[in-house]
Amino acid sequence: MQLAFLGTGAAFSPERYNGAVVVNGRLLLDGGAPLLPHMHRCGVDPGAIDAIFLTHFHGDHTLGLPPFVLHRIFVDQRPITFVGPEGVEAKLEALFEVSWGQDWQLAMRPRFKVTYQEAQPSGSAEGYEYESIRLDHGTNGSTGYRIWVDGRILAYSGDTEATAPLDQLVDGAAVAIVEATGPGDVVSHMSWEAAAGLKSRHPKTRFLFNHLYSGTVDGAVSDLQVVEV
Ligand SMILES: [Zn+2]
Ligand SMILES: [Zn+2]
Repeated sequence: MQLAFLGTGAAFSPERYNGAVVVNGRLLLDGGAPLLPHMHRCGVDPGAIDAIFLTHFHGDHTLGLPPFVLHRIFVDQRPITFVGPEGVEAKLEALFEVSWGQDWQLAMRPRFKVTYQEAQPSGSAEGYEYESIRLDHGTNGSTGYRIWVDGRILAYSGDTEATAPLDQLVDGAAVAIVEATGPGDVVSHMSWEAAAGLKSRHPKTRFLFNHLYSGTVDGAVSDLQVVEV
């Protein structure tokens, strides 16, 4: 599968853009990066994205979406499905309304061919089978995904602490994109030391680490990197 990393930084990283990953030019995992210019630079057609999986509603995972949805309203009107935690429709509609004011309801929303789907323990979206697992992050948690891509499991954590549900998320996955925010004590996130431990417990999984605050660690990807795995 092809993975295009549009951004690989933690929320207030001074060095990296906020996170977003495109899988095979069709699936978008979180939407924190400047999506349209970074898709352009990675050779991804923004009109070809047919499903977006969101892990949680922190701004570093969602604030690239308002300009992206305008592309899907005014430039390419193919339908799109958002999968996200409970309340995904209300949360995103509120984000788009605050971004575009009354133009959202009056001029934009009627042309938007969108489906919202609250993440199920197992489900499918636009032909992609997935499982979701609740992860420990902040006060409200995060939703990690195991998505079947060409017969292999891609695990995607978004933000998480290094607790037992994360091991469950990556178990048996061919590829795992997992956060590794920084060394030492990183509150509500995973440390580099814990990332190395996770990797050693799952030796058959190819790990790609993102959501870095500063510097880099073994296995980390970088902004605008396109990887075949
Ligand atoms: Zn984050
Ligand atoms: Zn977060």
